Amino acid sequence: MSFSHEVGEILAQVDEDVPTRKLSLLKELCFRTGDAIQLPIGVDIPSPEASKALLEAMCICIPAIDRLAQKITLSSIGCWELPLPAEYDDKRRARYPQITDREAGAKNLLAHRYVARVALGATLGRLNFIDHICRVHACCNLTHFDFVTPGQNNQRSIIYRATVNGQERIF
Ligand SMILES: [Zn+2]
Repeated sequence: MSFSHEVGEILAQVDEDVPTRKLSLLKELCFRTGDAIQLPIGVDIPSPEASKALLEAMCICIPAIDRLAQKITLSSIGCWELPLPAEYDDKRRARYPQITDREAGAKNLLAHRYVARVALGATLGRLNFIDHICRVHACCNLTHFDFVTPGQNNQRSIIYRATVNGQERIF
């Protein structure tokens, strides 16, 4: 079966409200395609080639992703980057790209939550956070996401800051 066919099969599956299994299957598929990259925090993301192939496959299955892809730049580590003038606001709060797509009924939605919704059918509540494993706020690559609780999200931010400050890797 081709890569894009496998992506289509996974996306067509019915999953629970927060589709963690669907996301795991997509990640597994991408990890089988090319050599993974280990990030400084000690976690792996799929090869840039796999991330590129996943975006192409999703453009075929999902019209909303196809429209979004016109604004995406693929980074050297496979991030799907949307335009974002600044990662933080003047109070050092994280900023994320926002999406408006009338055809998909989306107005000023956070890009990562929007992509999880249109690609995975995720019904995300207020307490379902998405952690960017790659730490790139402009990124909307599904394989760089983990569904986490607010507590896990905070903990990961603390670990990440400790790591970039030269302390040990924890997870
Ligand atoms: Zn990324």
